[in-house]
Amino acid sequence: MPAKRKADTLSLFDLTQRYPTKQSVIDYLERIRWGDTPHCTKCGGTDRIKAQAKHPGRYWCGDCRSYFTAWTGTPLEDAKVDPRKWIFAAYLLMTARKGISAMQLKHELSVSYPTAWYMLHRLRLGCGGKLEALGGTVEVDETYVGGKEGNKHKGKRLDVGGGSGGKEAVVGIRERGGKVVAKAVERTDSATLVPFVEDNVEPGSKVYTDDAAAYKPLPNIINQYEHDTVAHGAGEYVRGEVHTNSIEAVWAVLKRGYHGIYHGWSKKHMRAYVDEFTFRLNEGNCEIDTSQRLDSLFRGLVGKTITYRELTA
Ligand SMILES: [Zn+2]
Repeated sequence: MPAKRKADTLSLFDLTQRYPTKQSVIDYLERIRWGDTPHCTKCGGTDRIKAQAKHPGRYWCGDCRSYFTAWTGTPLEDAKVDPRKWIFAAYLLMTARKGISAMQLKHELSVSYPTAWYMLHRLRLGCGGKLEALGGTVEVDETYVGGKEGNKHKGKRLDVGGGSGGKEAVVGIRERGGKVVAKAVERTDSATLVPFVEDNVEPGSKVYTDDAAAYKPLPNIINQYEHDTVAHGAGEYVRGEVHTNSIEAVWAVLKRGYHGIYHGWSKKHMRAYVDEFTFRLNEGNCEIDTSQRLDSLFRGLVGKTITYRELTA
């Protein structure tokens, strides 16, 4: 008798068993998109839908007279990739803690490097869903990722001050025992950081940061937050329960991915990679099993489209 698995493990072997054919993946994408009844992706109609026998997954809507599939209006729409490879790529992206490079994906899926690269970027679009607000006790911190100042054109350097070395700034918030929100920012001043906290953290929460001046206005915002700091500048990192270690752990994973897996990424794609890393952390932290993470990724793709030109321009 096979050993009982934990709910959160879906092995690569399980995946191949679950999706052995193109049709099985099409069935899966349809279930994610509309459940049991095909809904026209253009007019929402369900009454005059006809499956196109010669084109698996394609339907005709008699109401608005158009063709559609379960992946119309997603980044998978115009890709000429075997649907099984999408599932594989998404699985690998979800389960690799520090990410997966296009070079590795190319080998895993037997596709060209540009195809692998483009697939990963398309899948990342499914990672950027809006979270509910964070609350309770949260940690806020900013970090700098990437490039060497010497390699950069002067006009591209960030005006962040404080010795960032021309790297790209990312700000993040982690709820203790909960989720992470992070995004790439142009500046790490109060005008950027404070509204980011306001947008993402419930009033009444405890907010812990380091002693950077940018966070000084936090407690003054109509007394929304209880703000406390550790004085990193003075070598203080933990004072009782006041620290930013959990959000700093996120930066450590992000940076290991940046250097070890992706060997860097450009500023243009920073947002997509930050989304990818936070998605993986959030879905993993909540002990959601891998199947549900895949569902959530594919659901996140609806309404997101991008062209090769937009990615590379
Ligand atoms: Zn229609």
